Amino acid sequence: MTKEAKKIKRLASIARVGSVVDNFYEELRQAPKKGKKVAWCGGWPTPFPLLRAMDVAYLFEDVYAATAAARHMEKKLQGISADKGYMAEVCSYARTTLGEAFFPEEEKPMADPYYLMPNPDFLLCVDIGCSMLPWWTDAERRVFNKPIFVIQCPLVWKREDEEEVVNELTQQYRQMVTFLEDMTHTRVNWDRFQQIMADVREAVAYRMEALDIASKAIPSPVTFFDWAASLGITNYALGTPLGVELYRGIRDEVRERVARKEGALPEEKVRVYWEGHMCWPHMRWWGELLNELGVNVVAAKYTHLGFWHRPDKIDPAKPLESMAWNTVGCLGYSAPLLAEDIVRLCRDYSLDAVVCHFTYTCRIMPGLFFEIMNIVSRKLGIPGVSFDGDVADSSFFGSAQARERIENLVEAVLAKKGVGKVS
Ligand code: SF4
Repeated sequence: MTKEAKKIKRLASIARVGSVVDNFYEELRQAPKKGKKVAWCGGWPTPFPLLRAMDVAYLFEDVYAATAAARHMEKKLQGISADKGYMAEVCSYARTTLGEAFFPEEEKPMADPYYLMPNPDFLLCVDIGCSMLPWWTDAERRVFNKPIFVIQCPLVWKREDEEEVVNELTQQYRQMVTFLEDMTHTRVNWDRFQQIMADVREAVAYRMEALDIASKAIPSPVTFFDWAASLGITNYALGTPLGVELYRGIRDEVRERVARKEGALPEEKVRVYWEGHMCWPHMRWWGELLNELGVNVVAAKYTHLGFWHRPDKIDPAKPLESMAWNTVGCLGYSAPLLAEDIVRLCRDYSLDAVVCHFTYTCRIMPGLFFEIMNIVSRKLGIPGVSFDGDVADSSFFGSAQARERIENLVEAVLAKKGVGKVS
């Protein structure tokens, strides 16, 4: 096979996401000059439609850290937080944004624009089940001496608890509205908020439809890496006509590729579910390895089970309830419920195995991996494998171990299919 023929076919419709992200950050840097309030937000992207309705500019901290790692700009920020005493074992997302909070004033005139985010007027946190989130936001509250508001999602142990959790969260979002009205000295324009929520519903419906069509198709026309990039639309353009247009474009392109039976990989030999975070500092390495071995990550926790994944629960007339339904997410479920969702995805999308990214500095997510893998393997008879890495700190990743584990997994899957060894 020629080098050219071995290339991954990226979605053309994803290409615009990069400029959406860059424009978003440029507008954020300009926000104080335009008299806009700025919020730093950690956790989950559910409050953003409300912030958009109130003209509040926001920094989504987790994604700021992820983008820094994907652009290899995280070391500078993690070095600053280390100098302030934050140990390497602290969540690397937190260490990255704390580095931004502590960024030295005297270095700013010469700094890359990515390090020049405006200071917050207040901070928001949506804690979906990780105790790091409120403590990390609280550390920044102390740096900036600004008010903080925290949403705390109760854990869901049984499916029938979901409704009660949503009612509780709706109450908390109601209190968030009062907090924001205090901070901005304006009232929420509910008509505008509902219109924004209608755009959210339309965009998210296209996203989930595209995911479903692509994941059912064999071969799948999209890779995990395009789906990860497409989350930029959710984080930066949700609730706008542009967000609707971009996700519609992705859905249309996916449909066309499926009709042509066009796969994203030159050869899709093994289809897997990816559990846990992306390995942001090594996305290119992962893309190349998986392509070389013919492995496609067809479904994943981040893309299929979070980031506004419940369009069926969005009712523009009830925006706070809609936010609440989309807050109950992947970290808030017990292991049997998480495994139930993964089993469903593995069945629906004909997946061969589960890959778990054991994020070294994440205090919550990897704790359930072995139990989840056990349940999924016992129910479906498919193998699971884990590798060590980190969400935003490259020093915890060993490429030799990761390669060896994935190669072994591929061999096991192919042997089970009677296809033979990896070439
Ligand atoms: S879930 Fe993990 S990565 Fe996210 S904030 Fe908590 S510790 Fe950090």
